[in-house]
Amino acid sequence: MGNRQSGAQNHDVTGLVNQMLSRGLAARATDVHFEPIDDGLLVRARIDGQLVDLELLPTNLSENVVSRLKVMASLLTYRVDIPQEGSLVWQGDSAEPAGHPVDLRVATFPTIRGERAVVRVFHVSSELRSLDTLGLHPEQVSLIRFALAQPAGFIVASGPAGSGKTTTLYAMIREVRDQFAGRSVLTLEDPVEQRLDRITQIQINPHGELGYERCMRSLLRQDPQVILLGEVRDRQTAAVAIEAALTGHLILTTAHSGDPADTIVRFLEMGIPAYQLTSVLTLVCSQRLLRKTCLECSGASSRGCEACLGTGYAGRTAVAQLAQIDEQARTLILRCATASELRRELKRQGPDMIDRAMTLVTSGTTDECEVARVLGQRPSA
Ligand SMILES: [Zn+2]
Repeated sequence: MGNRQSGAQNHDVTGLVNQMLSRGLAARATDVHFEPIDDGLLVRARIDGQLVDLELLPTNLSENVVSRLKVMASLLTYRVDIPQEGSLVWQGDSAEPAGHPVDLRVATFPTIRGERAVVRVFHVSSELRSLDTLGLHPEQVSLIRFALAQPAGFIVASGPAGSGKTTTLYAMIREVRDQFAGRSVLTLEDPVEQRLDRITQIQINPHGELGYERCMRSLLRQDPQVILLGEVRDRQTAAVAIEAALTGHLILTTAHSGDPADTIVRFLEMGIPAYQLTSVLTLVCSQRLLRKTCLECSGASSRGCEACLGTGYAGRTAVAQLAQIDEQARTLILRCATASELRRELKRQGPDMIDRAMTLVTSGTTDECEVARVLGQRPSA
C-alpha cells in the first residue's frame, strides 16, 4: 500500500490504533491482523475474504500497539505469554465524526517475534440485511420465503467457514420477524454475531453449563415458534433440533457441509433416522461467496485500482444451491442412498453451485479465476 511507514512519526499509539481500525472498517474488513514480522508490525485487513496489507508499523511501536488493543479489550497487558481473548464496543475514531459503535473481538497470541493480535469485526452491514440483497437468484429467494412461511420445519444453511451462511441465516430470521410479527422468535448462538431487535438472543457457552443441547431443551419450554440454532455440532443437539421440528417448531440452523447432498448425509451420519429427517427437512441452502469484479477497473488492460485496493475485486455475492425433499429425494434418502446418488437426484431440482457461478461469469459479475478459487475447476463436460 502507498503510505507504508507513514505511521513512523505518529507516536500517539491510541490514535494510531484507532486509525488502523477505522481504515480497516472503511474498507469493510472482517478482521484486522497485527502481526509482528522482522521489519515491524504488519497490519493487514481481511477484505472480501482475502488479506490485504494496510500498513507496516515500525518495530519500536509494535509492543505498544498490541498493548493498546489489549487495554481496549480489557485483557491482561502484563501477560504476554498466553493467548487471550476479549471483546469491546468500539465507538469509532474520535477524529472522524461519523463513527458508529461496532462490536469487536480481540484475540492475542504469543509468537517468537512478540504478540500478534487479530481483531474480528462484527459488522452490521446494512446492505446484507434482506434476502433480496445477498446475491441469491430470485427463484431461490422465493423458495426460502415459502419455507419461512411454514409453521414448522427444518431449514439448514450450509457451507464451509466464511461462506456467508450465517449472514443468510440472519437475513432469514429478520424476514420471519418482519413478515410474521405474531411469531415468537428465539436464537441460540455462539457467538452472537449481530444484535437483532425484537428477537430474544441467547449466547451459548459450549464448554460450560449452557451448551447447545441443554439450552435447546430448556428453550422449548419458553413457548418458542421459530428458533435459530447457531450450529448443529453433535448427535444430541441434532436429535433435540429434529424433535423440535417434529413437534411443530420452525428450526433454522447451519452445517459445515459442502452441498445439499453432503448436508443430508451428514445428518443421517449423526444418527438422525431417515424417516424423521425426510419428514422435517424443508430446505437446504448450500452456498459460497464469490468476489465481484471491480467495476472501476474491469475494462482496463491490467486489473486493480484504488477502489479495489489493487485486487481487481470489490464486494462479494452469494452463490447457492437449494434443495427440497420431494418424492424422489425422499425415496432415495429412505433407501440410504450415497451422497453422489443423492447429488445427481437433487441436481434435477435446479442448477448446482457451479452452474449458478458460471452464469455469474457470463453476466460479468465475477470471473472464472474466482470461481475456480472458490469452487474448484469446472469439470470438463
Ligand atoms: Zn478496481
